[in-house]
Order: sequence, then C-alpha cells, then structure tokens
Amino acid sequence: MVFERQQVDEALDRGEFIPYFQPIVNLRTGELRGFELLARWQHPQHGWIPPGEFIPVAERDGWVGLLTRSLLWQAFCAVRDLPDFAMLSVNISPVQLYDLSLPEQIESLAAQCGFAPQRLTVEITESALTHDLDRARRTVAALKEMGCDLALDDFGTGYSSLAQLQSLPFDKLKVDRSFVGSMTERRDSRKIVAAVVGLGLSLDMGTIAEGVENSEQMEMLRWMGCELGQGWLLGRPMPAEDLAQAVSRTEPRIVPGMPAEVKSSGGLEWLPSQRLAQLQAVYDGAPVGLAFLDRNMRYVQLNRRLANMNGRPMIEHLGRSVGEIIPGFFPQVEPLIRRALQGESITGVEVTKPDDVPNPGTTILLSYEPARDEAGEIVGVSAAIMDITAIKQAQVALRESEEHFRYMLELLPIIPWIIDPEGRALAVSHRWKEITGTTEEDWKGFGWMKSLHPDDVEPTKAKMLHCFTTREPIDVVYRVRRSPKSKWRRVRARGAPRIGPDGKIVSWYGCLEPLDGDW
Ligand code: C2E
Ligand code: CA
Ligand code: CA
Repeated sequence: MVFERQQVDEALDRGEFIPYFQPIVNLRTGELRGFELLARWQHPQHGWIPPGEFIPVAERDGWVGLLTRSLLWQAFCAVRDLPDFAMLSVNISPVQLYDLSLPEQIESLAAQCGFAPQRLTVEITESALTHDLDRARRTVAALKEMGCDLALDDFGTGYSSLAQLQSLPFDKLKVDRSFVGSMTERRDSRKIVAAVVGLGLSLDMGTIAEGVENSEQMEMLRWMGCELGQGWLLGRPMPAEDLAQAVSRTEPRIVPGMPAEVKSSGGLEWLPSQRLAQLQAVYDGAPVGLAFLDRNMRYVQLNRRLANMNGRPMIEHLGRSVGEIIPGFFPQVEPLIRRALQGESITGVEVTKPDDVPNPGTTILLSYEPARDEAGEIVGVSAAIMDITAIKQAQVALRESEEHFRYMLELLPIIPWIIDPEGRALAVSHRWKEITGTTEEDWKGFGWMKSLHPDDVEPTKAKMLHCFTTREPIDVVYRVRRSPKSKWRRVRARGAPRIGPDGKIVSWYGCLEPLDGDW
C-alpha cells in the first residue's frame, strides 16, 4: 500500500492512529500483568488497516517516530490511572533505536501524562540490530536509566538470535507466536519453545509466550515454566475504553485446564529452577542409587551412590551408555530398560550381580520408570537401584536360626504350641500330627479340640476359659489318640500368657508332655 506523506500527516492530526491493548497474563496464576500496545489505523476510506501494512512504510518513509509519539501519548493517558501492576509494553522499531533523542521524548511524554516510566517495557525485534550497535546501546542505556525494561521480541525468528541476546541488556524474552502456534502439533516447535523458556530461566530473564490461542498450549507453556503469556485465549487487543473493565475483572483470566490435584498440592507454584534444585537435593541425599537415562540408555544424571555401586566416578558415567559402564551386568538390565522405554513401569526386580562386575554377588532391586515430556512423549528412563544384599543376608541368617530352633524343638520330648487369647491354635510342632493323626487344616483355630477324648472337651474348655479370665497359667490334662484304632494317651498341657505393651494378652505359649511314657 502507498501512503502519501500528506495523507499520513492528516491522519495523525485527525487521530486516526489509535492504540489497542492486548492483555499480558501470568500463566501460573491467571493474573493480569499488563498490556502490549498495538497500533491500528482507522482509515476513513480503507477501514481498519493492520500494523503489518503501515509500520514497514512508516519505518521506510521516516514517520514511525511521529506515529510512536502519537500512540504513546494516547496510551500513557489511558493507562496512567490503572493500578500500578498494569505494565505497558510498546513496540519500538529498530530504526528508532538509532535516534538518541528517543529516551528523552518518551520521558517527557510520560511526565506530561503522569505515567511512571518504570511501568514501561520496550519491545525490540532482533532482526535489524546489526549496524551501529553502539548507537543503539546508548539509546537503550538511557531507557534503562529511566527504569524501563527491555524485551527481545519475536525471539527465534531472525538470524543470530543468540548473539543478539548478548548485544543489549534484555530483561525479557518473547517467544514468537509461530512456535507457540504449532507447538502442540509439531515436536520441533515444542522443543524450540522449551529451549527458549529454559534459556530465559537460566539467564534470569522472564519469558513471554505470544499467540496463546488454546488451553492446550497454555498447559504446555506453564509446564515448561513460561512466566507470562498473551494471545486470543487470554484476551484480544482492545481499545482504551475497555481497559478499566478488563483490569477490574476479578475472576482469573483462564485457568481452566489446570488440573485440580496439581493445584491443590501447590505444585504449580514451583518454578522449574526450584523443582530442579529440590530434585538435585533428593538425588544427592537418597539412600538408593539414582540415574536418569536418555533414549539411548546414556547416563544424563546420576548420584554418587550409584557411581559407587558401579565402581566408577560419577563424571565417567555422563554421556556413556549403561552397556559401556557395566558391560558384565548389562544383559540382565537391558531388557528391563527397553521395556521402560516402551512405556512400562518396572518396579522392584531383584537380581544378583554376576562375578565379573564390581561388587559381585550383591543383590539389588531395580526400578525403571519412563519419563515423559510435556506432550507425553518418552524422553528417557528414571532408574532407582537399591542394594539389598544386607537385607538378604539378614533374611537368610534369620531363616537359618529358625531352622536351628525348629530342629532342636523336634528333638525334644515336648510339643510346643501357641494359641490366641480365645484358644484358637496358631502354631504347634509337627509332632502333634504324630500323636493325633491330624493335619494343619484340621487343628487350626478351634479344630485341635476335635482330637480330644469326648469326655475331656468340656472340662478342658472350662479350665482354659478360667485361665483366660484370671490369667493364671494353663495346666490341664486331656486324652488324645493317633487313630480310631489306637488307644487313648494322656497329655499334660501347660502354658503362660504373653502380655502386650497395652496390657492385653497377645497369645498363650505352652507345651504338651506325655504322661504315659514316651510319645
Ligand atoms: P507483535 O509485536 O508480535 O504483536 C503481536 C501480534 O500478534 C499482534 O498483531 C497481535 O494482534 C497478534 N496476536 C495477538 N494474539 C494473537 C493470537 O492469539 N494469535 C494470533 N495469530 N495473533 C495474535 P498486530 O497487532 O497485527 O501487530 C503486528 C505487528 O506489528 C506486531 O507484532 C509488531 O511487530 C508491529 N506493531 C504493532 N504496533 C506497533 C507499533 O506501535 N510500533 C511498531 N514499531 N510496531 C508495531
Ligand atoms: Ca511486540
Ligand atoms: Ca512478537
């Protein structure tokens, strides 16, 4: 489109260039943080002309400075009475940065309108900051002196973005909407957005995502730790008249999609950097070996305990695969890690280390959990390795000592037994089977009483009930026989209660002795 200079001047005079304001919102809380000023030309013949059509012409024909002054004047007056939190971002063309009087012009406009310049963020696109960087630096230094913030706009779309990042003292990074727009469909866009957000965080710069159009994008950005966002989902550009109402709106600006359980656990209030610091602390202090493996089973992260288990320094692990670090043991763990990489969660698989690896013969418990990125794609495996050799040895030792006891008991002429406070049999030596011909199935619970001589059942019950209430030791004689053909033999049962910490009887322990000679 061609605009005659005279036409432009008239348009400026008639106030045809008007500022629109698009909300900028805190993505974690949904709170409104400010507005970006976007130019609109309300042309008497052509109707609404978008900035993409007249800004390049204004830059080329040298009237972009005039335009900015007109817009800033209107915007400062519109925003000054809004609460202080409402920041204002303005787009400044790169050519304007070569104008050393720009800071002064902004300062005087702000003063005339009663707007505090500390509330202003200047957005600069990266693409054209190539020549006369020194001049641009001086302009920027003066703006920062006034308390303005500096944002790098459309990050990632121009050339030498990373160099640009260092060329001027930027405070904020704006993730270009072309990446945000495709991040839910395209893996590469997603990775770029994640990398830009990560870059911003590590450089201590806030990140602002542009073009947030749906809640899926917002979820993902929030998950990545992006602080601020703007887009149709969070608010369309609006005229000055609508600002007061937009600011007074109390309900949070879109926090749908926010999963209730995450919200209640407070997880979202965590910054990724804090999450990382906490994870690192958990890693270092954990009493188990921990590692994160990438899709190629290479160590990305591990703790000292695991390094010790593997018998190699931590640093030697990083970037190397599990197969390289523990070749002798790899055939056993590889299938498990592969299954985790397919999405299966592998928990508590017990394996014994073979002879040709560090710490041979140790028993370990392996767990592998697939780790997913913001789109649910598996990016690696989190491994937890626990040395349970000592527990294993204790179990074996316990089993052995139990065996010793059992063997000794079987040799004794007595039959030990345990019953509960109501008289149900819990355990008895296997010799009971020899003298009654009954199996565990038969004697369990009150079943043992069926082996008694019918005339002895009631007296034995009465005696025992008496002991249960008085806690006197049990001492009772009854008759049992091996089979219906064998003769009855008298046995004496004696026992004492074991009292628990709460003063109640836990169980009774006792033994049977034969009264008619050996068993
Ligand atoms: P920008 O700085 O990247 O501004 C954001 C653009 O994205 C705006 O377009 C805005 O309307 C649009 N947008 C906002 N939310 C969404 C969304 O959810 N989806 C999509 N697809 N688009 C969204 P607009 O207003 O047409 O501005 C275009 C560009 O013109 C701006 O890009 C900025 O570079 C430039 N511009 C606008 N106003 C000024 C100004 O006053 N001075 C200068 N130098 N440049 C300006
Ligand atoms: Ca912008
Ligand atoms: Ca932009």
